[in-house]
Amino acid sequence: MNDQIPIAKPMLGEPEIAATRRVIESGWVTQGPEVAAFEAEFAAYVGAKYACAVSNCTTALHLALLGVGCASGHDVITVSHSFIATANAILYCGANPIFIDIEANGFNMDVSAIEAAITRDTHAILCVHQMGMPCDINAIIEVAERHGLPVIEDAACAFGSEFKHEGRWQRIGSPRGAVACFSFHPRKVATTGDGGMLITNDPELDRRFRLWRQHGMSVSDTVRHGSRQVVHESYSEIGFNYRMTDIQAALGREQVRRMPDMIPARRRIARLYSERLGAIKGIGLPVEPAYARSNWQSYCIRLPLGCEQREVMQKLLDRGISTRRGIMNAHLEKPYLDPDQSIASSLVRSEKAQAECIMLPIFAQMTDAEFERVVLEVTNVLESVEAAVVA
Ligand SMILES: *Cc1c(COP(=O)(O)O)cnc(C)c1O
Repeated sequence: MNDQIPIAKPMLGEPEIAATRRVIESGWVTQGPEVAAFEAEFAAYVGAKYACAVSNCTTALHLALLGVGCASGHDVITVSHSFIATANAILYCGANPIFIDIEANGFNMDVSAIEAAITRDTHAILCVHQMGMPCDINAIIEVAERHGLPVIEDAACAFGSEFKHEGRWQRIGSPRGAVACFSFHPRKVATTGDGGMLITNDPELDRRFRLWRQHGMSVSDTVRHGSRQVVHESYSEIGFNYRMTDIQAALGREQVRRMPDMIPARRRIARLYSERLGAIKGIGLPVEPAYARSNWQSYCIRLPLGCEQREVMQKLLDRGISTRRGIMNAHLEKPYLDPDQSIASSLVRSEKAQAECIMLPIFAQMTDAEFERVVLEVTNVLESVEAAVVA
């Protein structure tokens, strides 16, 4: 169908085209001046001291976990109910993810379940701001501090989201945890094609991220290139190639400039969805806690009881509306399957959220006509399915 409404749509245009052209014409195309400028502008926007750009958020999570010393035999408390990269990054370090359930009234970590999961082997807490909705980071930090554990924030979807700390609104990434990791995949609110960012207020962590992202090399390409003296680099530890290119960074700088337009536009659509869909019998609308202001990376509804998720999604697709099922659960995927099922039994809310929720189209440039079509079709489909359930 040619007038299919997609689930998401990156906001890209002339400024991004001009920016990438500028980089190509400059002749310097990877981790150089544009990456440095993007880092500075991103740090200023979220309110952090240090920002280190990397190839994507998965590599950012890997470096963040290494940065707090995660290694073989360590446990990291996290949620299964997240994109699989969250759990995978823990395995990359040789550590074990310890999955806890999500809260009753949302899709983020159930803070009340953390303490019971802490053991002698616990090394860190990796929380997720799921779909851009801030988790209760203040409460998580409080538990973590009591047990001397570092907190890493998977903020892949949360660029532009805010939380309240001591009565003041702050952006996610004005660090509360040791490190926050962001993604610039096209499915997120701002994109560089692919890309990631590590945020911290700790200069030593930032120094190590910079070392690790380019093979552990002691001297950067830009420094060697600009030097009037011959410089030989050294490699004091094993690093990775997790670099971002200058082409991506130039794109990212334009995306940061669009944030003051993109975030209010998404918030408006989310508010209108909640106003218009609330009347549907049995529907569950996303809840924004008093301490949170979402960027609405996704708008996720819980289907009325008895609605079959796949059937609803197919009917909407047939009417030109793309949706996605609720967030996945890592513990249901093959690499994480638990033979004795003891994990699954404690993740009931996580499993229900995956099975009973769907995400609706949301993007900053969504037109009123597109919005009205989604509302109309969702209402029609849910009412027809509901009628069939009752009959
Ligand atoms: C998208 C996403 C990631 C991975 O980000 P990439 O940039 O694609 O590596 C990690 N965690 C969460 C919660 C995500 O939504």
